[in-house]
Amino acid sequence: MKNIYGITIKDLEQYFIDKNEGKFKATQVFEWLYKKRVKAFDDMKNISKKTIEDLTFDFQLSELEIVDKKSGKDVFKYLFKLEDGNTIEAVLMLHDYGNSLCISTQVGCNMGCHFCESGRLKKVRNLEAHEMVRQVLCVEEDLKLRITHIVLMGIGEPFDNYQEVIKFIDIVNTPKGIDIGSRHITVSTSGIVPKIKEFALLDKQVNLAISLHAPNNQIRSSIMDINKAYPIEELISAVKFYIEKTNRRVTFEYILLKGINDSKKCAEELAQLLRGMNAYVNLIPYNETSHIEYRKSEKDTILAFYDELKKKGINVTIRREFGGNVSAACGQLRSNYKEE
Ligand code: SAH
Ligand code: SF4
Repeated sequence: MKNIYGITIKDLEQYFIDKNEGKFKATQVFEWLYKKRVKAFDDMKNISKKTIEDLTFDFQLSELEIVDKKSGKDVFKYLFKLEDGNTIEAVLMLHDYGNSLCISTQVGCNMGCHFCESGRLKKVRNLEAHEMVRQVLCVEEDLKLRITHIVLMGIGEPFDNYQEVIKFIDIVNTPKGIDIGSRHITVSTSGIVPKIKEFALLDKQVNLAISLHAPNNQIRSSIMDINKAYPIEELISAVKFYIEKTNRRVTFEYILLKGINDSKKCAEELAQLLRGMNAYVNLIPYNETSHIEYRKSEKDTILAFYDELKKKGINVTIRREFGGNVSAACGQLRSNYKEE
């Protein structure tokens, strides 16, 4: 049986049309689910008894179970259990511009980035759209607040679960639903080139972030297995295609790993690589994990890297560090939980 939280408003309209009923009912159901947040079909007051019976027969309506929660200054980290017993994470960050939720898209990840906890636990399965939507609903309900921004940067590679991710974006973006504007949604990919091109043609105003992490193939292949499938030249040309098609600025994420990719030469090479592109670089201080040997770069090294990019005319920011003490790096909570 399908979960109602994984149905787009278009598909729900079709469901009612197939039953010879008015498609306006889809809007009513969406409002009950996402505006009034009812927990049972029976609570949908202005909907006919027959429709409620149909919905109850055809769809599940259930929430995620919170199995662990940690909080720090301006950060809340959740571990959820899914119906099949698998666990996933979401992290809420309180910014001055709003409340941003980082959600998971898969159970584990197969991309095999050497520095990442999520990749240490191989992919078990893709999440379905409803399991992404329910992360949003569950955190909003638990903290009694509204999420204003969503980043797909938790466990998993979104473009390795393309269809469900696009469906998720459609659902949370629906004005009659949770209504998070597409400009407030960011998808982050390790660089699955064909999907970047497909995404470019999607015609949604969603933000794209690319986990670059190195200025050349030699370094990138040594820390990210995906670079062997889609080397930097192909990645950059796919991103250029995306920018050309969408006219949108792209973010390049760059984790600074001590002694690996943080030299002045790397910064120069990176500036050269990105020259003239409508892009900016987000430098990420590495969040060290007990299972992986990489270390974060020194503060001075990070600042020098930043200065070098600036000097070369690249737009660059340094990401604020969130919740190192609450296992906030991608996949850490789940990984610690598994180990216990
Ligand atoms: N799979 C996608 C999205 C999830 S990872 C991707 O790779 O882009 C989200 C971001 O967190 C990526 O940029 C990833 O490289 C980064 N990341 C992973 N482990 C990290 C760590 N320990 N410290 C800081 N950033 C990390
Ligand atoms: Fe997967 Fe992203 Fe982690 Fe790489 S960084 S292993 S793509 S979750």
